[in-house]
Amino acid sequence: MRFAILSDIHANLEALEAVLADARAAQCGEFVCLGDVVGYNANPRECIHLVQALDCPSVMGNHDEQAAVDEPSQEFTGDAEAAIRWTRDLLTEKERRWLEEREMLRQEEGFTLVHANLDAPGGWGYVRNDFDAAESFDFQRTPLCFFGHTHVPVAYVNEGGARRLALDQLAIQSDKKYLINAGSVGQPRDRDWRAAYCIYDSDAQMVELRRVSYDVAAAQEKIRAAGLPERLAQRLAVGK
Ligand code: ZN
Repeated sequence: MRFAILSDIHANLEALEAVLADARAAQCGEFVCLGDVVGYNANPRECIHLVQALDCPSVMGNHDEQAAVDEPSQEFTGDAEAAIRWTRDLLTEKERRWLEEREMLRQEEGFTLVHANLDAPGGWGYVRNDFDAAESFDFQRTPLCFFGHTHVPVAYVNEGGARRLALDQLAIQSDKKYLINAGSVGQPRDRDWRAAYCIYDSDAQMVELRRVSYDVAAAQEKIRAAGLPERLAQRLAVGK
């Protein structure tokens, strides 16, 4: 089976459509969503509907949670908070309920899905280094765990704690555990503007990082037309 692992779509319809087309061309028949379908960009409703149509395992992200509640977040930056306020006003009650009804953690056959980390999934901490990864490994019960939240694709293996690995083409060894960040579809932050996602081939036991070009100018234009902060448009072009 070939799974397309999508994370941090963040209401970027152009990026999501390009990724779905790439995944289907690469024979992915299954999809999973690691949360943060909304926030930052200008097409939250369309992205929710596309993910719903995939009818796939999906977990909740911190922006999904914030779009569903009414009070401002204590932790969001000004730009993120402005975008989430705009998102809340746009979404229907039904769409907001769907965002918050998804679980924080899902265990599938052979892999786990979580937005942020396994040691405290709803605390929204970040796995940014070997030390953070080692804390997550303590709670990992499947050979693979896919996560998002940092918008930076990376893999860790549990070898004497946690060790960072290159993710381009990763061969999974059956006696080890892996914690894999699928990168971000809609707002990459690793200085590569192209949409990121992973393909997990469960027969070949391979994980591959994919990068997909999309119409950034169109996404930026929509951000400006919606009156969202200009910085949210600019960062898409530089992958930051
Ligand atoms: Zn995010």
